[in-house]
Amino acid sequence: MDQFLSYKEAKTTVDRCTQVLAAKTVPLSEASGHVLGFDVQSNENVPSFDNSAMDGFAVRATDTESATKEFPVELRVIGKLHAGDWPPQKIGAGESIQIMTGAPMPEGSDAVVMVEKSELANGTVRIFEKVSPGEHRRPAGDDIQKGECVFSAGRVLDPYDIGVLASMGHATVPVIPLPSVALVATGDELVELDQPLSPGKIRASSRYALAAHLRQLGCPVLDLGLVRDDPRAVEAALRKAFTCDAVLTTGGVSMGEHDFVRTSLEEIGVDLKFWKVKQKPGKPLVFGTSGHRLFFGLPGNPVSTLLCYKLYAEPALRKMAGHTLLDLPQLRAVLKDSLRKKTSLTQFFRGRVYVEDNRIAVTVSPNQSSGVLSSLAFSNALIVAEEGISELSAGTEVTVLLIRPMDTIDYSKP
Ligand code: AMP
Ligand code: MG
Repeated sequence: MDQFLSYKEAKTTVDRCTQVLAAKTVPLSEASGHVLGFDVQSNENVPSFDNSAMDGFAVRATDTESATKEFPVELRVIGKLHAGDWPPQKIGAGESIQIMTGAPMPEGSDAVVMVEKSELANGTVRIFEKVSPGEHRRPAGDDIQKGECVFSAGRVLDPYDIGVLASMGHATVPVIPLPSVALVATGDELVELDQPLSPGKIRASSRYALAAHLRQLGCPVLDLGLVRDDPRAVEAALRKAFTCDAVLTTGGVSMGEHDFVRTSLEEIGVDLKFWKVKQKPGKPLVFGTSGHRLFFGLPGNPVSTLLCYKLYAEPALRKMAGHTLLDLPQLRAVLKDSLRKKTSLTQFFRGRVYVEDNRIAVTVSPNQSSGVLSSLAFSNALIVAEEGISELSAGTEVTVLLIRPMDTIDYSKP
């Protein structure tokens, strides 16, 4: 196979090699954000008994038929029920029971008169407005019926769902786990943040950005730290890394004399699928598999690192975690500046989308160097300029990918 793949071929290859992890049971408190592994049904009615939706008086609706402000109906109050009381008392004709929200409906009653529409004095309640049968009464199973399949496999559980699962009494839930990810940063020039920046050294910025992205996804991270440009050190780190579901390395994948990642992968028997993509930034992206485990050799330039992570690795991690919406959200926007590019490559230009005259527009960020990480921080989108074209003129409609969560973008200005 020709290893110099197009962007689309490379994406398809990663997708084809990525498998969804097997479901496991987790405590309900840890389930939010996970994808449900199996259908979940309710083993009980929610609520499990008829109860009052209001503070007031449980009555037989027929007894209140003639009630008006001028001519209230008077009913004898024979008891009181609070939430948590059991068993409910019984009422007969002309009787009522004072009831609180959530208390069980008395046998014989079929409605509740709100306290605001009544007046209690000397064991008698005066009712100023009629109620219909069923009014202010929450029947058993009103929310969820016993045996009902409430959530289907594949649902992304959110905090609302956690509440619903709790209402059904599910203390544990079957979910697809988040893949564990090993991080390896290669390069003799890299120093930790707590080390002095001696001549020739740089801060391993992309490592922190990747760790933050993984934290956002919720993936457990095995951080293997900074690894020297030495074949044995790289190989040793990779062997430890391949205990995780996915491995991300940075640097060491281009054509330099100290780029040892590919040879180390071959050494430990990783099945390399591609090591070059017709794209910019991120041409020297390496991808391979070892069983179900995925390997992403992200290029060293920090913009290339993070864009390859967002375009390839994150969608694959999401797929492993059971998601079906994998890729960055895509929009069409009016390009505000013209662009020149290499015809043979798919190019991703950093830009900013905003709304202008009720249309989505996108400006091109000033610095497109793959070493300039701050320009990524001040962009919110990637303009996709496809293989086969050499320029995009201002005013044309282009495809853009949003690189930040949609609810964090201020669309009001460029
Ligand atoms: P490489 O792919 O190893 O040749 O690295 C390409 C460029 O990216 C070099 O200028 C490296 O110094 C830089 N680089 C490599 N790793 C990192 C990192 N973790 N953070 C920031 N820059 C890096
Ligand atoms: Mg390097």
